Amino acid sequence: MTLKESISQLAIFGGPRLSSTPLHVGRPNIGRKEQFMRRVEDMLDRRWLTNAGPFVQEFEKKVAELLGVKHCIAMCNATVGLEIAIRALGMKGEVIIPSFTFVATAHALQWQEIMPVFCDIDPKTHNLDPAQVEKLITPRTSGIIGVHVWGRPCAVDPLIDIAKRHNLKLMFDAAHAFACSHKGAMVGNFGHAEVLSFHATKFLNTFEGGAVVTNDDDLNKKIRLMKNFGFAGYDNVVYLGVNGKMSEVSAAMGLTGLESLNDFVAVNQRNYGHYRDELKSVPGVQLISYDPNEKNNFQYVVAEVDGQKSGLTRDRLIQTLHAENVLARKYFFPGCHRMEPYRSHFPHASQLLQNTEKIASQVLVLPTGTAVSVEEITAICRIIRLAVANAPKVNEHFDKLDREKPPTH
Ligand SMILES: *Cc1c(COP(=O)(O)O)cnc(C)c1O
Repeated sequence: MTLKESISQLAIFGGPRLSSTPLHVGRPNIGRKEQFMRRVEDMLDRRWLTNAGPFVQEFEKKVAELLGVKHCIAMCNATVGLEIAIRALGMKGEVIIPSFTFVATAHALQWQEIMPVFCDIDPKTHNLDPAQVEKLITPRTSGIIGVHVWGRPCAVDPLIDIAKRHNLKLMFDAAHAFACSHKGAMVGNFGHAEVLSFHATKFLNTFEGGAVVTNDDDLNKKIRLMKNFGFAGYDNVVYLGVNGKMSEVSAAMGLTGLESLNDFVAVNQRNYGHYRDELKSVPGVQLISYDPNEKNNFQYVVAEVDGQKSGLTRDRLIQTLHAENVLARKYFFPGCHRMEPYRSHFPHASQLLQNTEKIASQVLVLPTGTAVSVEEITAICRIIRLAVANAPKVNEHFDKLDREKPPTH
């Protein structure tokens, strides 16, 4: 990997791309292949492919143990996990969620005709601002779903307090937060239930997959029925249900990943530290921090780009990186409230979501994970540093492109 020394070497100015293969955010973390293959052989020999097979049972047990939570119900994905948990908790009417989240949090409500009410975030944490949550409660409100964005836990205690005082159900979308802790307790133990994602891009993956975790025995029973068509035994359906089951091959992947979990964290933490060192002196490009007293999976290397200080907007920095085949990403942009059907439901939502809009315009997520090397990170940071140090020239380039664009009307 060659380090770029001068601005003329940037791909936007005709230099060679940094990488011939794209460097992605969220390339899957894969554990020991031979372990996975051995499990697949076992599974095929057993001819038990799904329906609470031995791998799913073992995976549920291991996840519950790791999180110190009573029940783990494995699911086909987190979106269905959210939908089922929402229904099992009896949420209805309106539910307060952040707009700064993956759209599935909102869709899981809207899909069952519950209205997501978008609440602004605290710009310091990127998570729900409890003071704003309280202002949005109406007689129709039945619950709150917090999201632990980047694996940094929400303001859990204030949200528990608000939910208690207003008699609301409280859930967390913990899709980012597997193996993260809050005040020494693992995420998974808060609210009535928390929902994990094991999608291929997440810290731990089962190809597609998710889980609902809870310490509530009754809720556990209900969710187990709901995720299996409501079957309580042969020929006996006691509930309205759906198919939310995790398959054996997914659980085999999950068990294999669990064996390498510490390696995944170590690589992610090393990458994060390297980005932090390399970007320390770049004005206006600030990595978000993780509480050193808590566990985190370091799956997300997230910078806030302050265009005033860097001289370069987040979007132009992304364009500069994409030209190099470095596929840095905006996240949760432009916010759920600017996506359909919510944009049409709430055309004026942005006025109440000013921190969301600001953060969604500044966040830059950088390639990391076990597929990215320290040398690649050095080279990526060099490009960011060159672009910011020469912001006027970079802006000139993009201004010219904008002028040459044919008018859109
Ligand atoms: C990934 C993600 C989901 C959806 O997870 P799936 O397993 O893909 O359904 C939901 N919420 C958040 C915050 C996510 O990041």
